[in-house]
Amino acid sequence: MPILEVRNLSVTYTTKNRRIAAVQGVSLEIEERDAVGIVGESGSGKSTLAMAMLRLLPKNGAEVGGEVLLNGTDLLALPEDKLSKLRWKELAVVFQKSMNSLSPVHRIGAQMADVYRLHESSASKREAKRRIVELLEMVNLPERVYKLYPHELSGGMMQRVAIALSLMHHPRLLILDEATTALDVVTQGQILEEMMELERKLGITRLMITHDMSVVATSCNKVVVMYAGQVVEAGLVKDVLTKPAHPYTQGLLRSIPSFDGEKSNIRGIPGSIPALDVPLAGCAFAERCEFAADSCRTSKPQLAELPDRRQVACHLRGGEIHAQ
Ligand code: ATP
Ligand code: SF4
Ligand code: MG
Repeated sequence: MPILEVRNLSVTYTTKNRRIAAVQGVSLEIEERDAVGIVGESGSGKSTLAMAMLRLLPKNGAEVGGEVLLNGTDLLALPEDKLSKLRWKELAVVFQKSMNSLSPVHRIGAQMADVYRLHESSASKREAKRRIVELLEMVNLPERVYKLYPHELSGGMMQRVAIALSLMHHPRLLILDEATTALDVVTQGQILEEMMELERKLGITRLMITHDMSVVATSCNKVVVMYAGQVVEAGLVKDVLTKPAHPYTQGLLRSIPSFDGEKSNIRGIPGSIPALDVPLAGCAFAERCEFAADSCRTSKPQLAELPDRRQVACHLRGGEIHAQ
């Protein structure tokens, strides 16, 4: 059984005069010990997907439909107290601006100790401190951070505190939304190494939203490509990154110099994501797709499985579009 199964998840933001379909019927299956990268350009619905899965969207500003099964339990239907029992231990999350979730008036050590005691209520102060210092070391922070207040740390240090916190109780599923993006390359590399080591040791499953394809290439085994609120391609990193099947994935990879070989040939995908407040009859990528046919504008491609078990939503999937 997959550790996480997202079934037909949809999120519509409702503002005064608009309804924005930010996530449109996303289904995913994540196996235990997978490390899954979620990629796609800005506005494609990645953060909305993560927040909906964790029930962190504002209740009156977003309509959420579908199911999010964690080990068979639907998180979207769970009472709040049961859901909070799962946080940190079964499920932990780190956002890009995680520093906002720390209290400015308490020392880092005290706040980390609070999280430690959530699931270790009988632990002594010394045990808590030992564990916290161990975690701080793991994310390359000095022990003195324990005694500091959030305002005394840089943004990068705070982000490392947030990552350390997320690993406190060895969560079975770790969700990261651009959590390492703001860190310098060396620290990011170090943290990813540590994470992968922990994943191997403890069997942690990771879902990682990132715009950095090299992070996906080096630290994930699967990748999900989102466009305009939908999954357009999903599969093993070794297949999708080397032989992208969807024209959008192809464009995405072409726009990254290291994946194209020649630095002189950096080209983004011309155009932008379509407005999400108007339902589209056909393929959401049609306006930007060099292979678009008339039928692409009138009928929506569904995700279908290719022989290598990768899923692609494109009328021309496979065959000629492999050639770049
Ligand atoms: P990025 O890479 O920039 O973080 P993303 O893929 O995470 O982008 P989302 O933040 O999920 O994208 O946004 C998806 C769509 O939903 C966008 O069109 C965005 O403008 C819209 N959106 C996000 N949050 C809200 C909100 N609170 N109210 C209304 N619309 C929103
Ligand atoms: Fe392009 Fe048509 Fe495939 Fe959409 S369905 S990606 S428009 S070829
Ligand atoms: Mg985002």
